[in-house]
Amino acid sequence: MQNIIQLLPDALANQIAAGEVVQRPASVVKELMENAVDAGARRIDVLIKEAGKTLIQITDDGSGMSSADARMSFERHATSKIREEKDLFSIHTLGFRGEALASIAAVAQVRLRTRQHDAELGTDIEIAGSKLTKQEVCVCPAGTTLQIKNLFFNVPARRNFLRSNPVETRHILNEFTRIALSYPAITMTLTHNDTEVYHLLAGTMEERLILLLVEEYRGKLIPVEEKTGYLNVNGFIGDPSIYKLKRGEQFFFVNGRFIKSSYLHHAVSQVYHEFIPKDSFPFYVIFLEIDPVHVDINIHTTKTEVKFDDERTIYALLQSVVKQGMSGHHQVPELDLTDQSLKETIYSSTPPPASGEVTLGQFSSMPGRTSERIPSRQNWDNFYQPPKETVEEQKGKTEEAFTLIPFQRSSSIAEPTILEQLQNTYILTEREGKLYIIHQYLAHQRILYERFIHAYKEQPLDSQQLLFPQTYTYSPSEYTAIMEAESILARMGFEVKEFGPNTIAVYGTPTEIPLKKIGEIFDQIIADIQEVGATQVPMRFVEGIARAVSLRSAVTSGQNLSKIELTNIVQDLFKCEVPSLAPNGTPSFKVISTVELEEYFG
Ligand code: ADP
Ligand code: MG
Repeated sequence: MQNIIQLLPDALANQIAAGEVVQRPASVVKELMENAVDAGARRIDVLIKEAGKTLIQITDDGSGMSSADARMSFERHATSKIREEKDLFSIHTLGFRGEALASIAAVAQVRLRTRQHDAELGTDIEIAGSKLTKQEVCVCPAGTTLQIKNLFFNVPARRNFLRSNPVETRHILNEFTRIALSYPAITMTLTHNDTEVYHLLAGTMEERLILLLVEEYRGKLIPVEEKTGYLNVNGFIGDPSIYKLKRGEQFFFVNGRFIKSSYLHHAVSQVYHEFIPKDSFPFYVIFLEIDPVHVDINIHTTKTEVKFDDERTIYALLQSVVKQGMSGHHQVPELDLTDQSLKETIYSSTPPPASGEVTLGQFSSMPGRTSERIPSRQNWDNFYQPPKETVEEQKGKTEEAFTLIPFQRSSSIAEPTILEQLQNTYILTEREGKLYIIHQYLAHQRILYERFIHAYKEQPLDSQQLLFPQTYTYSPSEYTAIMEAESILARMGFEVKEFGPNTIAVYGTPTEIPLKKIGEIFDQIIADIQEVGATQVPMRFVEGIARAVSLRSAVTSGQNLSKIELTNIVQDLFKCEVPSLAPNGTPSFKVISTVELEEYFG
């Protein structure tokens, strides 16, 4: 009998391991920035060419390495951060697996220059596809510079798998932002294709937040802080006026490490429940410090998911801290929390079942959330919204939103004999002897959604030039998200162009989309791109955009509609390919047949 099992050569083993650690240029940026932080850097400079596909260079002024360590750092399972098993339970560094450099060197061309502060000379190493090609003594600044060229040069399948430059850049910006938020005392810069995107001087957390995110948040961040023996919490939560329609500005850090946790997100968003619309997201950056014994960060290779030994306590504490932050804030008039009621609420609040799998990214794509997505206005409108529009304005808007974009398909549908609006939300009508109760908001979303899909696939929609182009400024990652969608939006009738740093100008929109809805529509698009953008299926991407636009341009519940508008909705709905479902999968109407009625009445 023949034996066939062999140990893999190191280079091959590294390449396989790299599949997990190095998914895209952004993973390299993350790992190398983390190493720089671990090395005690006071300054980190990140330089990127072509979304990191051709060059990623990270320079730090940290400890540097001896020449033996420099060579050793590229071995798999080579780390200076842990030595024995018990160290696993007291990790105070971002890295510890000793895999990053070995993995990166397996799939790229790497050059390392490093010098310790008390050494006169440094080390210059070149390594590509796990093969050392050069090791020399060199003159270089104290600290470390790693240059990663041509990522996946030897793994064409992976290289081809990379997304467009704007997508990869967005991932890099996200990783950079997370680390920059967590370490405000380190000066950090990010340069992309010779343009300096960020120059963040060392400073306070609040300063860093404002530099990294949006200037308009100044004065709208509520500090939160709580120290218990078990858990320390600090950070900032957004005043309810700065909620966003998009996900992406919710940050949790555990011992300096960015993590995703839908469970903890729930704890925070519950508190905001009454103050911001249900389909929106509060802003928060929250740092949790906890004894490493109580948290396992080793459940995932990229370490963005962690496991706490007592999640429920953390949930309750976190919620109490956020509540306190909100109640101490003058803009929240109705939150009256005496100590006793606070205690009761915290300890009676029922967290959802903890689950490691659901991440923030999946949150709103869950089916069956539609009814919650419709803003229930009463609670927050008066506090945080501009004054209500007059009835005339609303009517005008309704008509605008409606008469838009004639539908292309032909088959004509008879005028309904019964046609009534119920509670400004439902349309009652009759069709082929059945009673239909149509949800106007969901139905109109379906109509618009199919129009936009049709526009993309078949016949682009006309764009109406705006008298005054509208400009919108975003954060760098939001901006790249919109630019990613530029050509798709063009087919849907939105004429969008770049206009200065992180700023877009909208020159045209599909006929008669109300001007004031544009900002909202774009926020929703950004939110959806950030969710769907990571998938590989182009059509999903288009659908996400169509869904976003229809969600924000449809008539909402509570709007009074004229007979003509009701007729239009009913007729257009039944011309749709899938009239019975809103774009996110919830039913758009209920039917009651005469048979059912007869049965009911015996
Ligand atoms: P890990 O960070 O998990 O230890 P890495 O492969 O990322 O594994 O790095 C291996 C080792 O190389 C680190 O433990 C550290 O000793 C050294 N190292 C890596 N990057 C730097 C740096 N920028 N400055 C100093 N030492 C570094
Ligand atoms: Mg590391």
